Amino acid sequence: MPKSVFGHEYRFMDRKELLSFEELERVARTFVALGVEKIRLTGGEPLLRKELEKLVERLATIDGLDLTLTTNASLLARKAQALRDAGLDRVNVSLDSLDDATFRAMNDVDFPVARVLEGIEAASAVGLPVKVNAVVKRGVNDAGIVDMARHFRGTGHALRFIEYMDVGTTNGWRLDDVVPAAEIVERIDAVFPLEPVEAGYRGEVAQRYRYRDGAGEVGVITSVTQPFCGDCTRARISAEGKLFTCLFAIRGTDLRALLRSGASDDELREAIADVWTKRADRYSEIRTDRTAELPRIEMSYIGG
Ligand code: SF4
Repeated sequence: MPKSVFGHEYRFMDRKELLSFEELERVARTFVALGVEKIRLTGGEPLLRKELEKLVERLATIDGLDLTLTTNASLLARKAQALRDAGLDRVNVSLDSLDDATFRAMNDVDFPVARVLEGIEAASAVGLPVKVNAVVKRGVNDAGIVDMARHFRGTGHALRFIEYMDVGTTNGWRLDDVVPAAEIVERIDAVFPLEPVEAGYRGEVAQRYRYRDGAGEVGVITSVTQPFCGDCTRARISAEGKLFTCLFAIRGTDLRALLRSGASDDELREAIADVWTKRADRYSEIRTDRTAELPRIEMSYIGG
């Protein structure tokens, strides 16, 4: 969320516009009834939501659900135990560089790397498996790819590099800024030899590689150079209850209006199924420098 856009003057949503924890649980249960097996709490930054662990506690009671939190880890050291106790299954931590100056510049709020690493260790110490996600931008943090690999090899924390995407319109994306996943793998392989790992399941977004010396795995997400829209199985719910079927959508379906107008569980289920069966999203397959200029929602609004 760039400071220049979301500064002091920015008017954030009123609390009553957000879905309550009860409403979020109802939506989650409906999605699970329709076949969803994984839920990720994302943001912006989800740990900024007051008493998030209470939402985790509610969602953790849903049978057969894998519940993950995606966070910048700024508050993770403080919250890890409560989240674990509430039933969270795992965390994804965003960390784009281990170089403090680079990281501070990228996060735009002068936030230090050390605090993120502290959050990762705290999560790990309470038994939460951790994945680390790094978005790679050419000329900004790509010089640190091998350092990241070196740091997380052998720690048990899965590291995934993500091709820089044109999400939203505030990041000034250009195709030239993208470091292709193949190049990322090549750079790591030159120092720490790698071999590919078979995909664990259909629709797995990360291509995985294992270190030949047994020091674990690293993954790349090829959203730009090898789009995977045909296998995309993700739906997204914004904080105020809009359903989006693509990260690059312009508008969503208002589930909050349905929830607050007294819709039955069947009506809610039908509305969601209707949106999902009609979706034909394939933004990444048709992306060009020109499509990057089209209006769309911001990443901080819809999560990853
Ligand atoms: S561009 Fe949209 S449809 Fe394609 S993989 Fe990304 S979210 Fe899924």
